[in-house]
Amino acid sequence: MTMNGIQKRSFPRSAYLHIPFCYRRCFYCDFAVIPIGQKAKVLSDKGQSSVMEYLNFLHREISLAPKGPPLATVYIGGGTPSLLSPCQLEELLTVLRKKFGFQDGAEITLEMDPASFTKDQLTSFVNAGINRVSLGGQSFDDLVLEKLGRTHRRKDLLESSRWVNQLYLSGNLKSWNLDLIQNLPNQSLEDWQIELSEALSTSAPHLSIYDLSVEPGTYFFSLQKKGELNLPNEDIAAEIMEFTNQILCDAGFARYEISNYAYPGHTSRHNRVYWSGQGWWGFGQGATSAPWGERFARPRTLDGYRVWLEGQESGGLEPSLSALKASRMQLDDEVMVGLRRREGVDLVAIARDWGWNNSQCEVYLAELISVWKDSFDAGLIEDFGKRIRLTNPLGMSLSNQVFIQLLIWWESLPSDAVVESNF
Ligand code: SF4
Repeated sequence: MTMNGIQKRSFPRSAYLHIPFCYRRCFYCDFAVIPIGQKAKVLSDKGQSSVMEYLNFLHREISLAPKGPPLATVYIGGGTPSLLSPCQLEELLTVLRKKFGFQDGAEITLEMDPASFTKDQLTSFVNAGINRVSLGGQSFDDLVLEKLGRTHRRKDLLESSRWVNQLYLSGNLKSWNLDLIQNLPNQSLEDWQIELSEALSTSAPHLSIYDLSVEPGTYFFSLQKKGELNLPNEDIAAEIMEFTNQILCDAGFARYEISNYAYPGHTSRHNRVYWSGQGWWGFGQGATSAPWGERFARPRTLDGYRVWLEGQESGGLEPSLSALKASRMQLDDEVMVGLRRREGVDLVAIARDWGWNNSQCEVYLAELISVWKDSFDAGLIEDFGKRIRLTNPLGMSLSNQVFIQLLIWWESLPSDAVVESNF
């Protein structure tokens, strides 16, 4: 391993913890979740005993990880992590802190869903150590929320975003994010304009705006197969995306990644770790980790996760998790992930780091640029100093075209080029 390689693969300083429980599964969701019904917070309910059993698994998995330096970011996602009690959350953070420690000023984010917590619980979560909240709003329209299969309603979202913003304004939270989904079934540009203006009125300093993605196995997928999912056509979808970018940039947000907008100083440090190719720990059912660059996904079912965990405890850790490993994200993945960011990628630096010599860099990257010619001509990508980046808004909106061309190029390369060679 080169010196450079060792530095790049130093121990992670970020951790993701997956809490899989939700009241019920939303109609578009294919995440690793366990629906436990509306009584999930009642201590005597069987949903709550599942939560306690799972937290025990999570504590055990954290204790198995190799010791590493203090964490700079922690992200507790799901699922609906705000279904945990503040005590359960505090205990989880304590286990993590004992294992790694937290850096001063570490960013500690909790995903929260409206209607899954009270104002007092929110304050207790913050007292337990949370300093950034990501609120899963998705829509302000009751009819839309119902059609998405969401549990919360408009009033819950307005109320919870007000509580969160109050804590932010009083200095108890460093930042917060609101999630919205655009290009929903039957959505018009006018509908979306109302959604976006409501989002702005919450004063959230960070907005994540995702396109609806219809995934196999979801209820929406079955509706689509029957021709019963009326998604906005390409023209409306493009107008919606362009409008989003325009309105948010006019309002002072910077689009720092395809789906993420932030006021200055409010970008998510944890998300940047994923997009920059740095490593992170991951813990829990279905969680993906990449401590040394190589991704490892845990089983997506609770039983599968339990069996896997017991195997780790009795047979020693999965090699890719246990020791500094000489592997990393594939070059094409690294370029794709890097292109999602506004600053784009330095292709030569990534290729050299992958192990290509000067002549390989020259030949293969020239081929990539030629595969991308249409995208350059159409104004989807542009040179940006020594880097290449997606244009905004056009390239960010039509990024799939650029990514597909990237994959075609990668698959056309000789086999020795796609094997990492500097280790
Ligand atoms: S609340 Fe989020 S994680 Fe849970 S089912 Fe709905 S979309 Fe999926």
